Amino acid sequence: MTHAHSSPTVDSLPSDLGQRMIHHLYAHIPFCPVKCDYCAFVTHIGSDKLIGRYIAALQSEAMSQAARGLEGPLETIYLGGGTPSMLAPDQISHLLETFRASFGFAWSAEITMEAHPATVDSERLAGYRRAGVNRISFGVESLVPRELRALGRIAGERVPTAALSEARGAGFDNIAMDLMYGIPLQTSRSWAETLDRMLEYRPDHLSLYPLSIEPKTVFQLRQKRHELELPDDDRVVEMYSMACEILASAGYQHYEVGSWCLAGRQCRHNLACWRNREYVGLGVGAHGYVRAERTVNLRQTVQYIRRLEAGGDPVVERERIDADTRRIESIMLRLRLLAEGLDTVQLKRDHHWDIAQQCADALRMLSDAGLIRMHRGRIYLMESAVPVANDVWERLAV
Ligand code: SF4
Repeated sequence: MTHAHSSPTVDSLPSDLGQRMIHHLYAHIPFCPVKCDYCAFVTHIGSDKLIGRYIAALQSEAMSQAARGLEGPLETIYLGGGTPSMLAPDQISHLLETFRASFGFAWSAEITMEAHPATVDSERLAGYRRAGVNRISFGVESLVPRELRALGRIAGERVPTAALSEARGAGFDNIAMDLMYGIPLQTSRSWAETLDRMLEYRPDHLSLYPLSIEPKTVFQLRQKRHELELPDDDRVVEMYSMACEILASAGYQHYEVGSWCLAGRQCRHNLACWRNREYVGLGVGAHGYVRAERTVNLRQTVQYIRRLEAGGDPVVERERIDADTRRIESIMLRLRLLAEGLDTVQLKRDHHWDIAQQCADALRMLSDAGLIRMHRGRIYLMESAVPVANDVWERLAV
């Protein structure tokens, strides 16, 4: 397929015309065994019979995106949720086959799948590996049962770390774990214990999130009723600092605000997002970023399925990203990358914006305050500044 105009600029290109290379794909799998009390993701509980129809809808969305001129090869594929491990291995396999047929996969494509430790066993994990998944990301959140119960998560009989050993046994050599801090009943001591026990299994990648109270969640309701007791802000910052120290001494690189990894084990999909690359977003509630346009899909699973079954477009919001917005986003996203930093020369080249000149006073002030470091044309957010990163972004992303 050729471009609709002889030499179109991105801004003049209609959103549904013209071929465009795309190297990253996110697919949202909304199904979950239970709804956790803090969760604001688009999820769907207790409707296994919908799964088959949902997969078919995802497949038709992928094929229609490809038919509109998007072409790979895909370098990263991320199956997120929700709980993608609610899908059986052959269902994951069918999905990946459709994505491959639609866009093509690079030979070294990173294929990540999120999983809930309570929904997998050795056999299922081996099936995902055979289906082509080569990176698995477990939402563990805590290793303390009473903390898991306080989050409203299913804990089950199995300890979450069993899934990690089984994943290694199933042939996964790239395993990620998510943990949360600042959660009800958590103490600095129990947080350190969770980290220490986790490190015994040497995950390749760790994402650590402070709990945030999101709108329309059980936690928000309980907070309004003063029924939610949480560690105070100072304690949460202390937990963050403890994590930095413990993980550094265990040999992990803190490469992004909330992400640590062993050498060479960065999440390539997330790196692409933080580098402000475009990606296809498929599924209910999914965000996409294609042809300089950010999109959001329908947020109700049944409506999403029906829309696709009727041959319709699931996108309900579109935002054209103009040059200024793209520059501001790039600054904010790149500053998240603690190890890589913001390359001011590249920023100038890509966006015609000399941040050293435009933000000279702010840079000096932030540097004097020890929040950023400037070195060889790059600006680095300091690890100790992560808890106040919003203040830094506000001053530089102008
Ligand atoms: S398992 Fe994850 S996506 Fe599902 S409800 Fe819990 S936090 Fe939300």
